[in-house]
Amino acid sequence: MGHAVATEENGRDMQGTVLYGPGDIRFERRDDPEILNPTDAIIRLPATCICGSDLWPYRGLQPIKEPTPMGHEYCGFVEEVGSAVKSVKPGQFVVGSFATSDNTCPHCRYGYQSSCVQREFMLRAQAPFLRVPLADGTLVATPDGAPGDGLVPSLLACSDVLGTGWFAADAANVKPGATVVIVGDGAVGLLGVLSARQMGAERIIAMSRHAARQKLAREFGATDIVTERGDEGVARINEMTKGVGADSVLECVGTQESMMQAIQAARPGGSVSYVGVPHGVELKGQQLFYTHVHLHGGPAPVRRYLPQLIDLVINGKINPGKVFDLVLPLDRVAEGYKAMDERRAIKTLLRVN
Ligand SMILES: [Zn+2]
Repeated sequence: MGHAVATEENGRDMQGTVLYGPGDIRFERRDDPEILNPTDAIIRLPATCICGSDLWPYRGLQPIKEPTPMGHEYCGFVEEVGSAVKSVKPGQFVVGSFATSDNTCPHCRYGYQSSCVQREFMLRAQAPFLRVPLADGTLVATPDGAPGDGLVPSLLACSDVLGTGWFAADAANVKPGATVVIVGDGAVGLLGVLSARQMGAERIIAMSRHAARQKLAREFGATDIVTERGDEGVARINEMTKGVGADSVLECVGTQESMMQAIQAARPGGSVSYVGVPHGVELKGQQLFYTHVHLHGGPAPVRRYLPQLIDLVINGKINPGKVFDLVLPLDRVAEGYKAMDERRAIKTLLRVN
């Protein structure tokens, strides 16, 4: 792309992704990221990607007031750090969460870094360079130097989509031997399958009616596929679990139908996690009361899991990067959105250079 090369003015002449309105993604000249606070770092991204949650504003279902820089999943090489940054150094390869954190406040210490008192939600990551606030508390460096190119997709996945799928499994209390249901066959749901497998679930039921996604779900460890939805889907789960229901249900969509499907698929005393950003979801108190389920969800505290997830990737134990089924150069980002919007792609990886 050439745009990532420093120019004579010592700028990077950077281009990045901006959403102007429904369906209108542009790749255009933007201000170069700079150190604004002493706790910032600037990183250079070898690749970035598009999130399922980016589709809400892209579809106009989450209106934007002004042209909005897009992207919140990232990993890459540290180029520059602010004067107060202690643990992160130029040249390191780092992975960060979509939510920044100081990793020292009470919420961080309880493991909820995505509710950090200093949290900012990242934007602007669909670009070759990115400013990351609170670098010491947000970024985790890979051990033993920079990873090979082949690991970049899986490390990038740790930043949000795997971190969120992992939280979904953890928040749904997945234990060895458990029966787990995953509602939603998007990238997060598929990596929820992978996470449940890693946590030792015995039966993993993926709800999907899409052949390519069913195949990937099985590769990630699903033992059963259910194609029915809504009440029919719940009836099918009930039948498969001999009338008991699932121990753990991961809700990875965020609609009323998917949430009710998840709650009704759990056994009394079971756990339901919800990691799809809810849009129009309303729960009725009495209905919830009689289900006896544990509910736990929210924006995933990815930072809590990063060291463990990076380790699993580096040691070849998991390959979450398989979730990227479309790879495009970054300047063709608009095609990537369109393919995901039309469900032709599960998740788009955008290569820089
Ligand atoms: Zn904090």
